Amino acid sequence: MPLREETTIRIGHLTGTGFDVLSTERKRRYTVTTRRIRRPATGKALVELHCDRCGAALLVRVRSRALSRTIRKRYKLTAFIGAVSAVVLYGGAVGLDQAGVVLPFTSVLGPVSVIAFLLGLAAFAVGMYASYNEEGIRLRSGPGVADGTHRLLLGDLHDPPRRTLVS
Ligand SMILES: [Zn+2]
Repeated sequence: MPLREETTIRIGHLTGTGFDVLSTERKRRYTVTTRRIRRPATGKALVELHCDRCGAALLVRVRSRALSRTIRKRYKLTAFIGAVSAVVLYGGAVGLDQAGVVLPFTSVLGPVSVIAFLLGLAAFAVGMYASYNEEGIRLRSGPGVADGTHRLLLGDLHDPPRRTLVS
């Protein structure tokens, strides 16, 4: 997602959970508060806004583009390290197999290498996902809003705002 200097954020006020018949999934319904915000030139800034539904004060921490990019890079690095570890472990396992060595699953080494391989893959997936979704924007619970009612909604922030959103 592109990092814009000025961007629209959406904060959802949870109004209830329903049951969608078509996908048979639980869905959350939100009343959405939409605001235009400007990123600070450097570092980070706190922006205060009020929920359209209940008027609660909400603090949003906004990072500059440069800082957001640095954090995206960090997530990508995590993804890269995960991918490399998985490939190396896989290559090592194939190499041992070709050399006629059977991974000793009865010993600790076998399961540990499989778990490490899966962790590597997971780090890759999580790192890429986090890097893509990192907007440098976080909702910090303001005074009296530590109730889990409000949530920063991800997705294409440049959609026309909808009053009710299913996520
Ligand atoms: Zn609210």
